[in-house]
Amino acid sequence: MVYYNEKLETMPKEETARLQYQELKALLDRVYRNSAFYHGKMKEAGVSPDDIKSIEDIRKLPFMKKTDLRDNYPDKLVCVDREDLVRFHVSSGTTGKPTVVSYTKNDIEMWADAVARSLTACGLGKRDVIQVCYGYGLFTGGLGLHYGAEKLGAVVIPASTGNTERQIELIQDLKTTAVAGTPSYFIHLLDVAKKMGVDIRKDTNLRIAVLGAEPWTEEMRRYIHDISGVTAHNIFGTSELSGPMFCDCEEMHGTHIHSDIAYTEIIDPETGEPLPPGEKGELTITVLKKEAFPMIRYRLGDVSSILEGECPCGRTSPRIDRITGRVDDMLIIRGINVFPSAVEHALLKNPFLTSHFVIEVSRKGRLDDMLVRVELKPEAMTDSINGLMQMQAVVERTLRDALNVAARVELCPPNSLPRFEGKAKRVIDKRVI
Ligand code: ADP
Ligand code: ZN
Repeated sequence: MVYYNEKLETMPKEETARLQYQELKALLDRVYRNSAFYHGKMKEAGVSPDDIKSIEDIRKLPFMKKTDLRDNYPDKLVCVDREDLVRFHVSSGTTGKPTVVSYTKNDIEMWADAVARSLTACGLGKRDVIQVCYGYGLFTGGLGLHYGAEKLGAVVIPASTGNTERQIELIQDLKTTAVAGTPSYFIHLLDVAKKMGVDIRKDTNLRIAVLGAEPWTEEMRRYIHDISGVTAHNIFGTSELSGPMFCDCEEMHGTHIHSDIAYTEIIDPETGEPLPPGEKGELTITVLKKEAFPMIRYRLGDVSSILEGECPCGRTSPRIDRITGRVDDMLIIRGINVFPSAVEHALLKNPFLTSHFVIEVSRKGRLDDMLVRVELKPEAMTDSINGLMQMQAVVERTLRDALNVAARVELCPPNSLPRFEGKAKRVIDKRVI
């Protein structure tokens, strides 16, 4: 078995707990001193760093949620001097306001190290040519995989998304052995290769795909293997944790969360109580090593469980099961987070629309498709096809600008969409995940 950092990855449980405690203690001392936000939050919860005497005591600490990031936009959660920052990333999915995350030099190193370990666990190494088909930019996927693959010593092709025919030529010409990207984009890439008459098995060296940023299934993993011979691994992360960084190993049974870097809990979303391995609940992660933007007991909103037993690969870190859903109403469309409230916010910028809308999500071919059906105000009704098409184009543009993802829009006559008693059911998700 090849490890990137054998000592840390195979560390016995007791030693891990000691290390995690040391890291947590140092982190708490730091944030308690340097961050008005954390100081206030801990004071409110009646807990100080001195009350934390073992890693299990972490449960005494208050939770963090995405709303904490939004409420402290853009940089009130930064815990270091401005001059120590080296990067910002901005999350795509919003409920009106984006979330900003920041990094020091050490934070970028830690993230790259985590990705390099994960890529090693997938069986990749120095000899590999890794084509990164995640978006490069404010989204963490592109640069995250890029730095990790470089740290591994592999050759990196910063292909980003789109221009799929060119991507397939690059896979052939540069002898790409692995692709990193979203599962839906990878499936699209395989479809285009087929149309171009490129047989992935015979005409390329591609053998591994590292896929993430959106939920996908074991069936999808098998399908990819059947049609292309490519072994697809599942990488997980969120911008708040740094970006994509935790991955399954060659056993392909659960995502390892490197335990010297992060502490993993599954909690009951109602009571906040930690749940034992095997039980499903809300994934909650503390990144023990972050400097600029610490995340302590961050509730991701993703539903998962910690797998029972040891992994045959020898890594002692906990493994989480595939994400099976969300505890909130966030949608993930082509890798981008979309909250129905953000759709509503954007729609209501158009004076001719009402707040009656429904979002229909489906798969067109292998790509997510989002259709927003929204009612016009009675006074905006018109028989002019031109007028309607213009309004539709305006709404599509507002949605694209607000959500960073394209949606189709259908303008509906007044009173034609369903009304709800109590909680509105805004989303019809026809994708099977
Ligand atoms: P963005 O920059 O698009 O807002 P985030 O980092 O906020 O991206 O998105 C993180 C979310 O994406 C996670 O909380 C989870 O819901 C989803 N996600 C990421 N990777 C996976 C994966 N491998 N499987 C399932 N869901 C994933
Ligand atoms: Zn393993």
